[in-house]
Amino acid sequence: QKYVYSFGGGEAEGTAKMKELLGGKGANLAEMSSIGIPVPPGFTITTEVCDLYYKNEKTLPEGLTSQVEKALARMEAEYGSKLGDPSNPLLVSVRSGAAMSMPGMMNTILNLGLSDASTEGLARKTDNPRFAYDGYRRLIDMFGSVVMGVDHEHFEHELQSLKDQKGVKLDTELKADDLKELVRRYKAVYEKAVGTGFPQDPMEQLWKAVEAVFRSWMGKKAIDYRRIEKISGLKGTAVNVQAMVFGNTGTTSGTGVAFTRDPNTGENEFYGDFLINAQGEDVVAGIRTPEHIADLEKEMPAVYTQLLEIRQTLETHYKEMQDIEFTIQDGTLYMLQTRTGKRTGTAAVKIAVDMAKEGLIDEKTAVQRVNPDSLNHLLLPQLDPKADAKPAARGIAASPGAACGKVVLTAEEAVRQREANPKVPLMLVRKETSPEDVAGMDAAVGILTSTGGKASHAAVVARGWGKPCIVGCEAVRINEKAGEISVNGTAVKAGDFLTINGTTGDVMIGEVPTIPPKMAGDFAVLMEWADKYRTLKIRTNADNPKDSAKAREFGAEGIGLCRTEHMFFEGQRIVDMRKMILADTEADRRKALDGLEPYQRDDFIGIFEAMAGLPVTIRLLDPPLHEFLPHDETGQNEVAKQLGLDVQKVRDRVESLHESNPMLGFRGCRLAVRYPEILEMQVRAIIDAAIAVKKKGIEVLPEIMIPLVGTVEEMALLKAETERVCKETIAKAGTEVAYLIGTMIEVPRAALTADKIAEHAEFFSFGTNDLTQMTFGYSRDDIKSFMGSYLEKKILPEDPFASLDESGVGQLVSMGVEKGRASRKAATGDHLKIGICGEHGGDPASVAFCHKVGLDYVSCSPFRVPIARLAAAQAAI
Ligand code: ADP
Ligand code: MG
Ligand code: MG
Repeated sequence: QKYVYSFGGGEAEGTAKMKELLGGKGANLAEMSSIGIPVPPGFTITTEVCDLYYKNEKTLPEGLTSQVEKALARMEAEYGSKLGDPSNPLLVSVRSGAAMSMPGMMNTILNLGLSDASTEGLARKTDNPRFAYDGYRRLIDMFGSVVMGVDHEHFEHELQSLKDQKGVKLDTELKADDLKELVRRYKAVYEKAVGTGFPQDPMEQLWKAVEAVFRSWMGKKAIDYRRIEKISGLKGTAVNVQAMVFGNTGTTSGTGVAFTRDPNTGENEFYGDFLINAQGEDVVAGIRTPEHIADLEKEMPAVYTQLLEIRQTLETHYKEMQDIEFTIQDGTLYMLQTRTGKRTGTAAVKIAVDMAKEGLIDEKTAVQRVNPDSLNHLLLPQLDPKADAKPAARGIAASPGAACGKVVLTAEEAVRQREANPKVPLMLVRKETSPEDVAGMDAAVGILTSTGGKASHAAVVARGWGKPCIVGCEAVRINEKAGEISVNGTAVKAGDFLTINGTTGDVMIGEVPTIPPKMAGDFAVLMEWADKYRTLKIRTNADNPKDSAKAREFGAEGIGLCRTEHMFFEGQRIVDMRKMILADTEADRRKALDGLEPYQRDDFIGIFEAMAGLPVTIRLLDPPLHEFLPHDETGQNEVAKQLGLDVQKVRDRVESLHESNPMLGFRGCRLAVRYPEILEMQVRAIIDAAIAVKKKGIEVLPEIMIPLVGTVEEMALLKAETERVCKETIAKAGTEVAYLIGTMIEVPRAALTADKIAEHAEFFSFGTNDLTQMTFGYSRDDIKSFMGSYLEKKILPEDPFASLDESGVGQLVSMGVEKGRASRKAATGDHLKIGICGEHGGDPASVAFCHKVGLDYVSCSPFRVPIARLAAAQAAI
């Protein structure tokens, strides 16, 4: 079996397609090598070896040793030096890399192969002892901490004490002899912690490093990252062993990172940073301030031209924006990595549309390129331009959108506070972030760091998540001990509000109002393309004219769920509603309902007008009545006073409406069965409103929806009632208006008997919140206490209220669709219109499922409409 794949010298055994086996880094190093891009030679040990390592009680498979030795020999020949050769040593890096990019896995080990003897040799060969000993002490530090688990602080401590002793500030001020001394001290630190001396045999170094990479796959950071990003099903990480090239040999050397296009805005501009005379992750670490990539032109014109050519080659080859790492050694350029660049939602849209216009990809590919959830980014709030937003400081705009939250200074604190109160927005303020902080970053609405550049950890992670972020804001000083920060001298305590504008880099003290975004430009173009390919219609859940108008702007093709009860809580309406609930006789109830009717009618008129020409599904009263009454004494006293009733009576009614399980209690169509006058009032209001709007010359398409039906008898009874009221109202007004009467399918029994129900229902809408609730037997409001454990123990792959459970609830949905459609067709010859109106309507995976089972539409909240449009297109392509 082949465990090792070589690359370098213009050829490679692997290709970019072999990511699963070689990891992303290894596959792309191979690909770059075979298309003639300069890459230092090396080899990749496959992810299968990682898998075998864990399957065989952490032992490496037989046969690996000889394959590695062969690949190494090939590399040595290609490079013209040998690992451990004291006169001409080959040095290598050991790099991890899974099929998906995973910050949080093992740190790269550089300069592997150095020993006492080969360091001497390297010093002689390069005539640069400072460089050689600096490399060696870095290796002892990296190998010690990353591979052997020595606390990095111990090395740092030695470095600092030597600098103090020599009276210097910067590492670079240390001379060759100082570094030689440092190596001696580092070796002592190593030996004290590990118990044996620093390994002098480079093969021993290599094998220990390889195993450390495999062990890091199951490290806490890596596991956390996979959980948060929902990555599963990977075999493991690959290990890349690659000849070292040095960006720190002098002023004709350097290292950098870049994106082939701007990952924030998507502009077709080369974007990145570099440092002259630097090695490894110095650019990312934020120790020195890097220079902008365009300035490389002045410093090394020939290299810059070559880099631009490579940028072009990579984009035409991959047909995707790339994120690259490069190193220049004595004027020669080497590429060390390329991968698909992470980007903001805004950039994703622009790049997809631009690349289609440039002819690199076609429209369908462009539509497929954008992750629907990333559109959130374009739908992110912006600062209200009218607000008084005086910036107190400016940093580097790392991830767009405005965010406002209470300052927290550590990731743990952010996690703790979010758990304590998920509603309070948090602003994580740090010097910098590292993979240990991701859970805290996840808990915050925005991230602000005082150091770091565009490629720093905070910037990359935030951008990937679409979370507003500012980095490198030097005017921010953090005093963790005192629990406060200062922004340009002004103190801001932990717990105080801070606002950031990730689009501009502005930091504002206090709470600045934000405004919702608009759909225009490339976003609108991409949506147009999506609409060409999708077959599912997208409706919205809205209960007022304002939300309806917003949803239309985002492309909603109707309302899939208008919850009437939302209208009952304001002003005078709640008073009439309570009168109705407290009434003792039908006559009194009708009187109270008469008071409510005009409000209902006017609300519907507003919504019908906003949705002119589009269908509007209105659900009849659904929640249990006790929700409309106060449960505390003060509230009950007030109600009694307001309605001129004895407070005892109010208390008694609240008492009598009390249910031990309201979710399964007196609600939904059960209300209309017992109190038909409620249904009557609502239906009359709907039809009267429709007629009024129709008379204005506006087309109306009301769809009256009966909730929580479980038996055909309920449906038959309430359908007849509804129809009677419709006909009477129309007759009375003397104006015809079209309407449909249908039902929600949200009780499992309704799905099971969908054929019967469809004999009466003119449309179905799956209420997947209740359907999920009743299918699992989980109360949606009570899952908090156990859902975490369920996800952790993999009992559930995902919260079923966020993403539709296809294998369970999904069966009821497809059964309902099949039975309902077949029976309706047989009975009337009509196509039964079916949609979904639960939270799931805005979840891309659930949208794909709805497409698959042949629904006519999905309905979601206004801001998720664009996401659903794109998801529906992707499902159809
Ligand atoms: P990550 O997965 O964290 O990006 P990499 O494997 O890309 O880690 O390594 C980090 C950095 O180490 C690279 O960006 C590069 O600067 C440096 N590096 C890795 N391998 C080599 C090499 N063979 N020669 C020179 N520098 C290297
Ligand atoms: Mg790394
Ligand atoms: Mg890298």
